[in-house]
This record gives sequence, C-alpha cells and structure tokens, in this order.
Amino acid sequence: MKPSRRQVLRLSTAAGAAALLPPARARADEAAAPLPPAIAALKTMTDGVLPIGTDERRARVRRAQELLVAEGLDALVLSPGTSLEYFSGVRWSGGERLLAMVLTRTGDPAWVAPGFEKARAQELIPFGDDVRAWQEDESPYALAAGILRDRKAASGRVGVDEAMPFMFADGLAGALPAARVVSGTPVTAGCRMIKDAHELALMRRAGEITVRAFRAVFASLAAGMTQAQVAALCAAAMERQGMSGGALVLFGPDAAFPHGTTNPQPLKPGQVVLIDGGGRLFGYASDVTRTGVFGAPPTDRQRTVWDLVRKAQEAAFKAVRPGVEAQSVDAAARRVIEEGGFGPGYRFLTHRVGHGIGMDGHEWTYLVKGNTTKLRPGMCFSDEPGIYIPGEMGIRHEDVMTVTEGGADVLEKWTGTPEEPAVA
Ligand code: ZN
Ligand code: ZN
Repeated sequence: MKPSRRQVLRLSTAAGAAALLPPARARADEAAAPLPPAIAALKTMTDGVLPIGTDERRARVRRAQELLVAEGLDALVLSPGTSLEYFSGVRWSGGERLLAMVLTRTGDPAWVAPGFEKARAQELIPFGDDVRAWQEDESPYALAAGILRDRKAASGRVGVDEAMPFMFADGLAGALPAARVVSGTPVTAGCRMIKDAHELALMRRAGEITVRAFRAVFASLAAGMTQAQVAALCAAAMERQGMSGGALVLFGPDAAFPHGTTNPQPLKPGQVVLIDGGGRLFGYASDVTRTGVFGAPPTDRQRTVWDLVRKAQEAAFKAVRPGVEAQSVDAAARRVIEEGGFGPGYRFLTHRVGHGIGMDGHEWTYLVKGNTTKLRPGMCFSDEPGIYIPGEMGIRHEDVMTVTEGGADVLEKWTGTPEEPAVA
C-alpha cells in the first residue's frame, strides 16, 4: 500500500512509511497533519524573483555565436536537455524523435521538429521562424543537414551538445558526410559556466531557501526519526518557501558514506546528522550541506573533525581568485585536512572538493587534482570538503561560491556550530 504524503510527513507515525516514498514526493502543501513548528513557520521566499526572460536568452544565443567563431566551429546543434533550455527556454521530452535547435554563426536559430508536434514546438520556441518538420517516415537528420547547407555550414565543423544521445549525433554525422561532427562543449560550457547577475541572484536565493530549510529541520529533529523522514521534512521546508527540492540525510556512522547507504538506522542522541541537498529556482540549483550533532553536546572528537572541515572549507574559499587553476582550490582544502591528521590524499576526504553548479547540479568545471582550468569571474562551484571515518561518522560542509575579481563570494552566508549548524 502506498502511504499518503500526509502520512509521510506525520512524524508520530511509524518510521516505515516514510521510507517507501522518495523525499521529493513529500509536499508541504498537503500536510494537514501538523508540521513541526519551525517548518510550519517558514514563509515563501520567492516574491520578486523573476525567471530568465527571452531577451536574456537572445543575448545567450549571440554569445554562443561569438564563441562559434572564436572556437572555429560553424554550427551548434542541440537536442532537448539543459543546454537547449539555457539558450531557448524549451523543455521537451520527445524520446527517440528528434527536436533540435540548429545555430550557425549568424542569424536566428533554426529548428527541426516532429511533424505531428510542430504546433506544440512552435508554442515553445521563443525565436527563429525557420521550423522544419519531418514526417514519421522522413529523416530529421536530413532536415538538419538541409538547414546547414542553406547556411553554408554543411562542410564545416558542427558542434553538438555533449549530452546529446549518440543516436542523434550519429544520425547527424551520417547526413553530413562533408562535415566533422565534434563536441560543442566549448560553446555550451563557454556560455553556461559564466553566470550573470540574474543567474547569481537566483542561485543565491535558492541557497538561502535551502539553509533556512535545513535550519528549521535541525530544530525539528527527534530521536527515532529515520533518515527518510528527515529528508521528507527537508523537502517540505523548501516547498513552504516556494522551491521544490530534496535532501540526502545521514546519521552517525552512515554519514561516512558520502552518498548514503542502503542500510540506514534511526536517529540516536549524540550522532552526527549530515544533510546535503537543495532545489531549483527557475531552473537554477542550490547545493548545501550542514552537519550537526543531535541531542547531546558534541564530543571532543566530533568538534575537532567539524572544526577541521570548516577550516578546510575556508581554505578553499580563500584559494579562489581569477586566474588560479581549479586544482589549487582542491589542494588548499586537502592540505588542511592532511595537516590535521586525516590524510593522505583521498583516504578520509574521499572525493574532490567541489563541482561546478548552475542549471545542472553538477556541471563544468571541477575542483579536482589535475584540472588546470583557470578560474574566471562568474564561475560557480560547490566548496564541500568532508572527513569520512568508516564505522564512526562523516562530516561535510558545503556551500556554493562564485568567483569575483576580489576572490570567492559565498552565496549562503552562515556562521554555524556543531550544536546549531544551519544559522541563516
Ligand atoms: Zn551537496
Ligand atoms: Zn555538491
């Protein structure tokens, strides 16, 4: 039997029910059962927040055209996915039938759409009048190739989105024997990696909502709760503020698995509680981790590890500057952890220190050893060192930062402690 969302959110019910539903399904708006007061008190935080507009998307397309020239590409072809949404706002699930935006160095983009879906596509397409429809027995790739021939780009270098399914890229290459189909990442990532003020405002607000949600959840913890119940509360706390999201919640020794375990245990006093999650605000992601100690004063060991991870996080923030290599930010945090006795290498800090973030929760570029990409203003990353001690605990702190001329600007300001880890 499937439990109702209400049952999931009612904390007095048996622990088992919540585990059956993924946290993202829990919604505060149906929670007639009392939410914990700290969560019930949350108010919408999205007033005055505006989505990305068509003029902004046009500017992104112009920027992509500049990058086509700079990167020696003649065209960019996008199938449905995050990059298509970034440039056009079009969200589309067409399965194996190709819908594509075809962009050349000048002019509006042209489009290829399934014939029976042309009207629906035209409703969504914000600019570009050249929409070519293919019938079920025709080749969409021939239509895309026709657009490129008309625009004198059929024998050049045609970039495709790296997330394009192989069958589309392969079909396109087959229809363009004189062209070279190559990665369009220098153009897609070249645009998406650098966030403008509007994007940063959306990400900052998403981060604030997430920290407020976690703060309310930490105030609502009770012994015996399951990780799934706490995750449902996180989703409810974000929903109440106007953002859909979710979280990974780990207690005690389970937190030593950075991405969770299949054998979770209910919450006991004295355990660490690690909450890692976020949501999306008009397409832009947040990603925050807070770790606290529940129901008892932190042990010296817990506090030492907690403080060390905070120091490592600060070291990474301080290492950020335009022109430094991405790998040096990872090295700065890892050095603190190693000097604190939790090295070497990936022994206790088992993962890279951060990832790019934007419309995708993980995107270019990565703060990892070996990545010599130079940081540029407007790039956004997570800064998320952790120490994971098998059988004992895991502690991670995570915030999103953006690169400015003056260094890192952290999108979620906080001053936490192990007792109260999510102070907004
Ligand atoms: Zn995270
Ligand atoms: Zn992250």
